[in-house]
Amino acid sequence: MIQIPFNNRYVTLGETFYVKTRPTPVAKPALIKFNDALARLMGLSPGDLDTADLAAVFSGDTVPEGAEPLAMAYAGHQFGYFSPQLGDGRAILLGEMSGANGACFDMQLKGSGRTFYSRGGDGRAALGPVLREYLVSEAMAKLNVPTTRALAAVATGEPVAREQLLPGGVITRIASSFVRVGTFQYFAARGDVEAVKTLADYVIERNYPGVVSAENPYVAFLEAVIERQARLIAQWMQLGFIHGVMNTDNMSIAGETIDYGPCAFMDAYDHDRVFSSIDHGGRYAYNNQPGIGLWNLTRLAESLAPLLADETDEAIEVAQTLLKSYRAQYEQSRLAGMRTKCGLTAHEDTEQEDKSLIEALLNVMAANHADFTLTFYYLSQLWAQSSEHDGDCRSLFVSPAQFDEWAVTWRGRLSRETRSDEARQANMRAVNPVYIPRNHQIEAAIRAAEDGGDFSVFHDLHEVLQNPYVKQEGKDSYMLPPEPDEVVKQTFCGT
Ligand code: AMP
Ligand code: MG
Repeated sequence: MIQIPFNNRYVTLGETFYVKTRPTPVAKPALIKFNDALARLMGLSPGDLDTADLAAVFSGDTVPEGAEPLAMAYAGHQFGYFSPQLGDGRAILLGEMSGANGACFDMQLKGSGRTFYSRGGDGRAALGPVLREYLVSEAMAKLNVPTTRALAAVATGEPVAREQLLPGGVITRIASSFVRVGTFQYFAARGDVEAVKTLADYVIERNYPGVVSAENPYVAFLEAVIERQARLIAQWMQLGFIHGVMNTDNMSIAGETIDYGPCAFMDAYDHDRVFSSIDHGGRYAYNNQPGIGLWNLTRLAESLAPLLADETDEAIEVAQTLLKSYRAQYEQSRLAGMRTKCGLTAHEDTEQEDKSLIEALLNVMAANHADFTLTFYYLSQLWAQSSEHDGDCRSLFVSPAQFDEWAVTWRGRLSRETRSDEARQANMRAVNPVYIPRNHQIEAAIRAAEDGGDFSVFHDLHEVLQNPYVKQEGKDSYMLPPEPDEVVKQTFCGT
């Protein structure tokens, strides 16, 4: 049996925070994938366990010793409308453990059966969304983006009823916290200031220990959450990632990407790209993400208001000042990130020039349907003094001459750089991935698994995404955007 040194704190907060719930056993659990590297990072040694044991634990059939499974309560604004009670309807927190230097690893099963919060749902997950979350969350980790991780994926051997019957799955996710903006809203909406404080203290202790000594730790906490979120969303933008459903219940308090539903990476660049089938108004479109981040953080600030100051007016003022800093922090992160992507180091007197250069590139990419990832990847191969090697990059543009025109200005700006071409290129390659989990490839992996029980496509894709910044021998097909008949236009929550 796997030994997990649980140290469960959430369960001690009180019964208003959760409902104790055991996972519902499944018919025939079969392990699809176990993340050994992550297990080791967590200090677990599952090496001597057979796959049947792992399947039993990570399907929820066997509850490991020390686990205190529960479904967490939370509320949330979904597409702008407030639901006072959502909660883990198909997820169960098995427990929490700490690793070296205070790292928190909260372990959650998703797709593990009905809970108090399931409402009309079955508490289950189809295999497709499980594989999708596994691939994308692990790719995000390897792309150096803060994210929940995938520890295991298990097939349940049971069908789940969606538009049609689909094979079922359970994913085990690891997060440094599963508390969401919506968790704070849940208690704030009930006027339970004491619970908001208890929750804030819990999160501060585990995820923001640095703010404890601040004059008002809750102000410093809000400030730190804003900072992490600004940085996170800037990273999404720099990779062409669209979360797809940035409801406040899907925004982690720890600044990690969470809840991979209808998310997608763009192929051809488009500022307003939307993939989610339910995002009719484009609320969560690519370019809206930074603004929605602020909207969600404003909801957090409202929930924390009673802790920010004694008087309401004062609390509002404090919150407004902090929220104002979000835009600046986002812009700063974005500029720094985009400069690196374009091979530019920061000079104070080139700030305006660099911003224009970056916007100009994005505009030319949009007008020419250039592939987001490949444009930056090929840009990382170019030389400052010669356009001789521009072929791959310019061929991504419907009108290559428009790229050429931009490249002239870019090379003009590169003359300010003191680094060698090789050093600049290496720096660019460290942030401009060769491989991203492209929609059509994820779809191919899901189709093979769901339709033919063949997981090899999933495993191969996962393998390539372990090293997204390094070009791998014989893996060129994973770089390619979809052929016209492979294009995935829409993605689904899969709930
Ligand atoms: P999500 O779309 O994952 O952000 O989920 C929104 C809410 O719906 C959360 O409270 C989920 O727990 C709940 N939910 C989603 N799918 C299911 C399901 N299959 N069964 C029960 N609850 C679900
Ligand atoms: Mg969710």
